[in-house]
Amino acid sequence: MRSPEQTPEPEPVTRELDCVVVGGGAAGLSAAVNMARMRRSVLLVDERDRFRWQHMIHNYLGFPDGIPAAEIRRLGWRQAARYGAELLLGHVATATREGERFRLRIERLPEGGPRGSGPGPSIPRDAGIARLFGEVPQGGPMEVLARTVILATGVFGHFPEFPGRDDCVGRSLFWCIHCDGYESIDRVVGVVGHDEDAVQTAFDLLVFTSRVAIVAGRPEGFEVPASRLADLAANGIAAHPCAVAEYENRDGQMHALVLDDPGRTRIPIEQVYTVRRTRAANDLARQLGLELNPLGQIVVTSEQHTNVPGVYAAGDATCLHDHQISAAVHEGNQAACGANYHLYAPAQRAPGDDLDC
Ligand SMILES: Cc1cc2nc3c(=O)[nH]c(=O)nc-3n(C[C@H](O)[C@H](O)[C@H](O)COP(=O)(O)OP(=O)(O)OC[C@H]3O[C@@H](n4cnc5c(N)ncnc54)[C@H](O)[C@@H]3O)c2cc1C
Repeated sequence: MRSPEQTPEPEPVTRELDCVVVGGGAAGLSAAVNMARMRRSVLLVDERDRFRWQHMIHNYLGFPDGIPAAEIRRLGWRQAARYGAELLLGHVATATREGERFRLRIERLPEGGPRGSGPGPSIPRDAGIARLFGEVPQGGPMEVLARTVILATGVFGHFPEFPGRDDCVGRSLFWCIHCDGYESIDRVVGVVGHDEDAVQTAFDLLVFTSRVAIVAGRPEGFEVPASRLADLAANGIAAHPCAVAEYENRDGQMHALVLDDPGRTRIPIEQVYTVRRTRAANDLARQLGLELNPLGQIVVTSEQHTNVPGVYAAGDATCLHDHQISAAVHEGNQAACGANYHLYAPAQRAPGDDLDC
């Protein structure tokens, strides 16, 4: 008999699938739709940890009035299910190679909020599940064997932590001028970030508004040459080399940045762009021995192959494209094409075709 302290035995493997897709954002859903339409058995597992803010997407083709990000996701789940993809809410905790297959362990989600090191929860889990997905079963704990794996696990960490933050995301708190610069026309905007990317974002914003200031967002100040600070000044962009003491906001609207300087200077603003390095969600990629670039992003070919045959990656977790929904959808589709071809018997492939490059 086992004592309570002992680690429980893994559940017996009950399923073997053509493909497991990890992550149910734009990339994972696109992969699942296309894999299912190629008549492959596909299971998509998503812990719904991110992509939950109530922001609008204005630059995705086909939605002239914009579409809530959550709605794209809800429609994607419906589309994948329609073609027979199985969808589970769960956390894929481990992934290991086993001969030519892959063993994945799926855990149940903790009650009461998303897991992981991403930003804190904004939607109570039950309400969120009902609102976004309808009745999607929780999966796990269980183990499955997959002939191919598509990792579409996204990234962590666009935004700083502060009270009211989640209500501001997508309304008055942004990170990407390609996504939301148009919404900044003639607004008073503050950029928070200390490096060249932040400085460049401040310059990029001048296309939309002349009222831009930049705050380093850390006590050490900026990490750019003095000449860049001079460039900012020459373009009328005030630069504050200090941390932010307070992000003043109410009901989703930013009102001011209060600086962590001796006078606690208050800079009235209407919008904030935070420029922070994101971290690719690459735990499973590491477990599978995938090549990562120095930023921790999964290295893929233009057809979404990784260095491990049978494993593909798509979306924000990869190194290829700018992190946008259109890129994630494209990469998910490409990954599905690659995974589908991987499943062909050797005699079904073009002579001399190298499967995994
Ligand atoms: C606030 C905001 C505004 C944006 N605005 C725009 C815009 O206007 N236009 C635009 O094109 N793009 C926009 N983007 C970017 C766009 O949302 C991303 O590029 C896109 O969502 C990437 O899709 P993805 O599938 O790679 O990752 P995500 O959408 O992040 O999905 C990854 C999913 O994988 C899940 N996951 C990770 N690890 C595991 C695991 N181990 N087990 C189970 N599930 C796991 C996560 O919970 C998450 O649900 C915006 C992003 C944000 C945050």
